[in-house]
Amino acid sequence: MFETTIAGSLPKPAWLAKPRMLWAPWQLAGDALVEAKRDATVLALKEQEDAGIDIVTDGEQARQHFVHGFLERLDGVDFGRRVTMGIRNNRYDAEVPTVTGPIRRAGSVHRFEAEIARAHTRRSLKFTLPGPMTIIDTLADEHYGDKSSLAMAFAAVLNEEARELAAIGVDVIQFDEPAFNVYMDDVVQWGIAALERAAEGLECKTAVHICYGYGIKANIDWKSTLGAEWRQYEAIFPALAASRIDQVSVECAGAKVPINLLGLLKGKDVLLGAIDVASERIETPEEVIATIERALTFVAPERLYPCTNCGMAPMDRSVAIGKLAALSAGAALARERFGSQHR
Ligand code: ZN
Repeated sequence: MFETTIAGSLPKPAWLAKPRMLWAPWQLAGDALVEAKRDATVLALKEQEDAGIDIVTDGEQARQHFVHGFLERLDGVDFGRRVTMGIRNNRYDAEVPTVTGPIRRAGSVHRFEAEIARAHTRRSLKFTLPGPMTIIDTLADEHYGDKSSLAMAFAAVLNEEARELAAIGVDVIQFDEPAFNVYMDDVVQWGIAALERAAEGLECKTAVHICYGYGIKANIDWKSTLGAEWRQYEAIFPALAASRIDQVSVECAGAKVPINLLGLLKGKDVLLGAIDVASERIETPEEVIATIERALTFVAPERLYPCTNCGMAPMDRSVAIGKLAALSAGAALARERFGSQHR
């Protein structure tokens, strides 16, 4: 009960990539970079295990960015044709590649680091992939012409990749869909269909992560415009509850999300964001258990997995490690305090 996990990414060591930034440039090249990615992946697993995290990830150490790391290995996406575009409904600008032809997977994308991770931990292993809607919100399109067919094209290659990862022993495949909190009408119209296509036929657990973004200034500014109650989840949870996805990863720590909205996820596992990634302050275990306690009114204990709000890629490394320890200490307290009364 109350097994812990993380949204996905961890900060990279300074010898691998420039610290404390998104899209951080690599510090090495060629074979040295490959070896450094491998070493950082092993280290990320060890840090999670030592902190007491139950369902671990590769920390996304081998990719520069959670979306572009996947796109870099696809045919049909031209990184030579980069354009600056407002993403997440113009919340911030990003330099994005262009789709210039049919999307195809040229070969394995993340097999390298997934195999390393699988070989170096006996714990349950989660692997994160960007979701179709978030992918198409992070590139320019000159080929498909409409959003839902573009998303379905990506869903098909994501599914090939996910099946390959599941076959090497990944226990959970999670699709990251922060865009679900931005284009709620599209989610219901085609976003969940694309997500289900990406997850089709997988025998491992499937998850979707929907947050309010990394703790970068553009996201913090955006959150300040969302009012006293953030009700985005209300528009999409009923459709997610009816979907075939097993788990939903949500942001609840330091967020103005009304906690009763979790009640709309009946039948799903809830990966409960109990660690704020927009603050450098390390939570106390008591704060973590307080978030768990609020959620328990609406989520059955056996379906509740304490988690981070979002990825920690751009954070200070020592802060991130401190937050992992707080998460697992809070979950341990919750097992002591709530375990017996729910048995
Ligand atoms: Zn996130």
